[in-house]
Amino acid sequence: MPSEALTRIPLSVPEIGGNEWAYVKECLDTGWVSSAGPFVDRFEREFAARLGVKHAVACSSGTAALHVALLCAGVKPGDLVVTSTLTFIATVNSIVYCGAQPVLIDADPTSWQMDVALAADYLENECERRDEGLFERASGRRVAAVVPVHILGCPVDMDPLMEVCDRLGVRVVEDATESLGATYRGKNVGTHGVSSCFSFNGNKLLTTGGGGMIATDCDETARRTKHLTTQAKIDEVEFVHDEVGFNYRLPNVAAAIGVAQLERLDEYVSIKRGIAAEYTSRLAQAGYLTLTPPTSSDPAWWLYTVVTPFESSRPLMAALAKAGIQTRPLWQPMHRSPAHMALGSFHCPVADRLNSVCLSLPCSVGLGGEDHARVVSALLAAV
Ligand SMILES: *Cc1c(COP(=O)(O)O)cnc(C)c1O
Repeated sequence: MPSEALTRIPLSVPEIGGNEWAYVKECLDTGWVSSAGPFVDRFEREFAARLGVKHAVACSSGTAALHVALLCAGVKPGDLVVTSTLTFIATVNSIVYCGAQPVLIDADPTSWQMDVALAADYLENECERRDEGLFERASGRRVAAVVPVHILGCPVDMDPLMEVCDRLGVRVVEDATESLGATYRGKNVGTHGVSSCFSFNGNKLLTTGGGGMIATDCDETARRTKHLTTQAKIDEVEFVHDEVGFNYRLPNVAAAIGVAQLERLDEYVSIKRGIAAEYTSRLAQAGYLTLTPPTSSDPAWWLYTVVTPFESSRPLMAALAKAGIQTRPLWQPMHRSPAHMALGSFHCPVADRLNSVCLSLPCSVGLGGEDHARVVSALLAAV
């Protein structure tokens, strides 16, 4: 068959096949389409139950979730926040929205997640404890939080990170936007820090069109995140607001989609794990290797990604595109981002290398067996 006749295989597209239509129709029929309504409450309740936390606060995006979660963790202008350089820009942007400055940590060469040993080394050896918290010696700035990012559906090695952060009194806010459904040592990803953030953008495992969630066991954090995401209103009738809040609400019609998607989350995760296992077994011999998750963790494999056996993955990406197969490199690491040049220079050779050699492969929940095989054949033919 000529390649023009082949259908295009997208990288990652939503799976809509459950109760989405029925629940959205309910919103339209009842007029509850906007920022209040029964599906928002239900989505929050069912999400919290599924994750195993006390509270979940729905908001308009994963970026909004990160912004408010950081504010509620006490991040203030002039503070430092430690995070991974190898992440989508929203993590670092949300730190900057708070007026704080990111400290960028390189990726671990095996798991590709934040290198926990490097983060611990920074916190223990370049910072010092004072009564008011942990301070970076060189700048005298307070280290207000650490944001581990569980990239590509895989957990960060949380136990050693939590140990050092708890010991030094630094709060952990998890960017779990890519890793809903993953577990680490028997616990769901997103249940380790003081709070965690999720995204329901169209390319994520679970989508509401656009949306996000803050999950937490802390009553005060839940109360304050809800307050800040809903314009910080303290009097419904007189419109009295006690601080500068945000309109970060999730509309009811989006929450309705979320409730339907959540009903199928376990099924989605098991399909993702199957797609990943199949890729791993077919591709390893040809030199396409994927990340190795931390011990006793079970990734959700949101975006299946390989190290290609080439110095640059871009010629392969172009060849696959000609064959109708969409792939994508990892994000430009944040220490290279023109948007964040003001941060100064960080030396992150592992992230640089992963950015050159990696490609994410098509892995939608709805990826058919034939399409899966077509991607594998194209990759094997390229070596
Ligand atoms: C998707 C994503 C976000 C932001 O989520 P949005 O819902 O798109 O705002 C933040 N961090 C990471 C690592 C992401 O992949």
